[in-house]
Amino acid sequence: MFVEQLADLIGAEQVASDPEALSAYRFDRWCLKHWQDWQGETLETPGCVVKPRSVDDVRAVVGYANVHGIAIVPWGLGSGVCGGIEPRGDQILLDMSAMNRVLSIDEENLLLTVEAGVNGLVAEEAVAERGLTIGHWPQSIAISSVGGWISTRASGQFSTAYGNIENIVYALELVLPTGELVTLGKAPRAAAGPDLRHLALGAEGTHGIVTSVTLSLRRQPEARRFGAWYCLDMASGFRAQREVIHQDWRPPVMRQYDASEVSRLFPEYVRDEMCLILLVHEGPSSRVDAEVAAIESLMSSMGLKEADPAVAEDWMSHRNNVPEWRDLLEQGLIADTIEVSGTWSQIDAIYQNVVAALKSVPDCVNASAHSSHVYRSGINLYFTFAAMPEAAAVMGDRYLESWDRALTATARAGGGIAHHHGSGRLRQDYLHHDLGEVGLDLLRTLKSAIDPKGILNPGNLLPPDHLK
Ligand SMILES: Cc1cc2nc3c(=O)[nH]c(=O)nc-3n(C[C@H](O)[C@H](O)[C@H](O)COP(=O)(O)OP(=O)(O)OC[C@H]3O[C@@H](n4cnc5c(N)ncnc54)[C@H](O)[C@@H]3O)c2cc1C
Repeated sequence: MFVEQLADLIGAEQVASDPEALSAYRFDRWCLKHWQDWQGETLETPGCVVKPRSVDDVRAVVGYANVHGIAIVPWGLGSGVCGGIEPRGDQILLDMSAMNRVLSIDEENLLLTVEAGVNGLVAEEAVAERGLTIGHWPQSIAISSVGGWISTRASGQFSTAYGNIENIVYALELVLPTGELVTLGKAPRAAAGPDLRHLALGAEGTHGIVTSVTLSLRRQPEARRFGAWYCLDMASGFRAQREVIHQDWRPPVMRQYDASEVSRLFPEYVRDEMCLILLVHEGPSSRVDAEVAAIESLMSSMGLKEADPAVAEDWMSHRNNVPEWRDLLEQGLIADTIEVSGTWSQIDAIYQNVVAALKSVPDCVNASAHSSHVYRSGINLYFTFAAMPEAAAVMGDRYLESWDRALTATARAGGGIAHHHGSGRLRQDYLHHDLGEVGLDLLRTLKSAIDPKGILNPGNLLPPDHLK
């Protein structure tokens, strides 16, 4: 019924309801869903897929859904890894990918405005032609949308100098469940009440539909140099990274791999089971030269040993190659990555405890980590785990147990349980560790004030009410 009405509203060619088209939207890149699909489980499809081409289309669809109490699941490019998209047959899936225009590039004020469904790499290439960059390089840049970056509070590989998406976004347009349009962000900085852009940042489609985004740009760097250092263990590497940042150097990329990841990812560079720090320095040449010299002297004084910088260059050229879940499943492996963060005082305990927790899961064949985003007060960790049970039927249990043990160990050591992939359905039962019960209630209050009928991505982000 609503399929016909939506077709009348915005045009039949923008509404799909044939089973084949719907099947492509059953889930995002959450590993658990890929395993369920691979196991032959039936995963529900949305009732229809709507592809808006303009803000007016979005407003019309959302307004219609609100009046009729029909749920909407926003879809950017479907690269989310936490189950933010799990449509049902009585819901509308709103695929934003046809809203993909670059609206303006303002070279004087270094601002880029795009429609929210634009592919991140397409947006980056549009400004690169003018010698500019967004400076936001998630590993998924070629498979994710700018609206998705906002909705998941994404981080790029160069964040240590250039910031995460919340530091790069200048303004955004949001269609509220009523169908009203609000523009948030007007000037380079504001003290006009709370920063309402944050109602969309990390909301994972539960507060509104992001329709356009303005990002702050920077000029492409004049110089780039690579560096690499061996450290005896993770703790000594963390101390060195802390000193780099506390001395106010800002290499855009500073990544520290534990010995297990060095042997898996950089086998030619293995040395005495040591950990490895990779650096990419960028900026005006004089600053890059000064930074390289200062970091060389600092690392040496702290006992780190110089490695071949070619390893950082190798990382740079292969950094976005990752296996598909299905290929790993075919090899008998269920795997995932878990990104968390902690202060400098907590991070080594988080590293040790989470690796031990992951290894305690039956059939675990890999538990390792690297860090990749550095702050004055601390750093993130990005764990990789893999389990290889004899029976494929227990893979899902191993997977959920790994997540449970890792997030619980992180929280016990005082760390934050989500650095940049968002919550989706995967982390919702653990959000209380970061927000506290009062914080969770505040988020529920906000959600019900913005979306009283609960039409936007229901079941996502917030834990179900029975867990109150
Ligand atoms: C191989 C791989 C590497 C990755 N690397 C990184 C990385 O380096 N850094 C990082 O941060 N993430 C990374 N991710 C995760 C993912 O790419 C990001 O979360 C990305 O921001 C999602 O964008 P998307 O357009 O694909 O969003 P989707 O997956 O389509 O949606 C994500 C969530 O946002 C909502 N949403 C999407 N668009 C809108 C909109 N316009 N308005 C309102 N809600 C919306 C959806 O409902 C959903 O809840 C990686 C994923 C993969 C598969």
